[in-house]
Amino acid sequence: MEPVTRNRRWEISAPELRTRYLRQPLPFCPGCGHGIFANAFLRAADAISLDLNRTVFVSGIGCGAWVPSPHFLADTLHVTHGRAIAFATGVKLTRPDLEVVVISGDGDLTTIGGNHLIHAARRNLPLKVFCLNNWLFGMTGGQVSATTPRGTLTATTPVGNPDRGFDLVRLMRGAGAPYVARWPVAKAAQMQRGIQNALREPSFAFVEILSTCPTQYGQVNRESLDDDAVSLAAALIAWQEENCIPRQRAGKDNSTAKIVIGEWREGDEP
Ligand code: SF4
Repeated sequence: MEPVTRNRRWEISAPELRTRYLRQPLPFCPGCGHGIFANAFLRAADAISLDLNRTVFVSGIGCGAWVPSPHFLADTLHVTHGRAIAFATGVKLTRPDLEVVVISGDGDLTTIGGNHLIHAARRNLPLKVFCLNNWLFGMTGGQVSATTPRGTLTATTPVGNPDRGFDLVRLMRGAGAPYVARWPVAKAAQMQRGIQNALREPSFAFVEILSTCPTQYGQVNRESLDDDAVSLAAALIAWQEENCIPRQRAGKDNSTAKIVIGEWREGDEP
């Protein structure tokens, strides 16, 4: 294998990253946060020397599910809608020697597949689960999901979602997950370090990635009809920058209107 050249900021150059870890280019819309996550994930995998020959990626249906499959140069399972955790459980039980990583979206993992998710956390099966939360079903047309915040416009809630969305950190901690984290794509460097930490965990690890969807979420919830795709993407990133706060600054009771980000381990304050 050729030596990997590295620079200080990103460790491995973008062309090398693509050559070493991608089978083909990623298919996301311009400005989609999923591409930022994919980049950070591969850099994290490279930084900890994750052996992709001994890693299986499992994803369901939706935009988030296209991150690993068929793009990563690794074994991937692209399975039925909402069943990524069920298939991943089967792989882990039959081949406990392999690292099993689930990457999928909020519609797939928490809405259609929510029951599988909470039981995987309860069982503490050593899966690594990355949930790309863009607050709706993106690929299928922008329908409401279990994480859509109250009042949000979607294709199926044209006057605003009347229901509360799941707080996935609280849901997973309540279900017994020993390691839970939440990172926004706007904080790419922090997100990359968080991904590295999650991949090193020996137990079940759940990471919520707050992603951005300028096409479905941004188009419907934008404030101005003049916004183009680039402006929408930039506005969503700026919103995350303004509205996310590290848990160390949020106070013990998390009494803040902002979205609390960071890592939670067993025994931490809720
Ligand atoms: Fe990304 Fe949204 Fe496009 Fe899906 S529909 S690729 S989530 S921008």
